[in-house]
Amino acid sequence: METSAVAENVNQPRSIERVVAGMPTSDGAGVKLTRVLTQPLQTRLDPFLMLDAFGTDNPDDYIGGFPNHPHRGFETVTYMISGRMRHRDSAGHEGLLSNGGVQWMTAGHGIIHSELPEQEAGRMEGFQLWLNLPAKDKMCPPWYRDIQTGDIPEVRVAGVTARVIAGNTHGVAGAMRREGTHPLYLDLHFDAGASFSQKLPAEHNAFVYVYRGELVIAGVSLPAQRMAILANASGADGVVLKASGNTPARALLIAGQPLGEPIVQHGPFVMNTDAEIAAAVDDYRTGKLGRESASA
Ligand code: MN
Repeated sequence: METSAVAENVNQPRSIERVVAGMPTSDGAGVKLTRVLTQPLQTRLDPFLMLDAFGTDNPDDYIGGFPNHPHRGFETVTYMISGRMRHRDSAGHEGLLSNGGVQWMTAGHGIIHSELPEQEAGRMEGFQLWLNLPAKDKMCPPWYRDIQTGDIPEVRVAGVTARVIAGNTHGVAGAMRREGTHPLYLDLHFDAGASFSQKLPAEHNAFVYVYRGELVIAGVSLPAQRMAILANASGADGVVLKASGNTPARALLIAGQPLGEPIVQHGPFVMNTDAEIAAAVDDYRTGKLGRESASA
């Protein structure tokens, strides 16, 4: 779906505070991925807790998938660029995530789910973002939505197509809205040399991850497989991203309102205190996060 644009006038663009390379790791049953937003950045990039990027043509890197595992206290947003992944969870939800689609899952008080590839060959590429929940919502009932690629609003502006997963850009409302954290999640496809402006509240934490080509932000080049943390200078009213050189580029622009609450993570649980983490571990052990789904 594509709609017409309203200009985003940015007068004082943000600069890059820091460039981050990410850390190669594996998770689940041996899935190779790059952890772009790592635990030491959780406070700086509040309300975002993690960003994993995965992209490979080798089935050995993804075939094990993510068998049954629990979550509590936050939301997971999985964006599939290429490939097919089957989700099943203890709340009875099941869905197939495929090319260009998004799965938005609110773990709330707890869920056990599996995320397993439904392909034995070909390319698997995408991202999983973890978005924190405010303390008052951490124990909410689990919730889940599959957003098919055709249901993600798109807007085309001066050589850039923005896929609006969450938040608003150029007068177009995204597929998702969230009170409390007000996330903006854009997947931007740049023609060579094109630029894109986005207004951002100065207090919102924001970052850009380039996954094809190269961008220039406030005069600084950002190559593929790099994340730029954008500075929160007072008075800055947005960001301007420009595709450099003669090649197209693709990037995620993600921003949100920080919660300013304590963050305590233990593996798949993210709460505000050690006592709440201990309770989560105990509830998981005693089966209070639900029964495992049949898939794994
Ligand atoms: Mn998971």
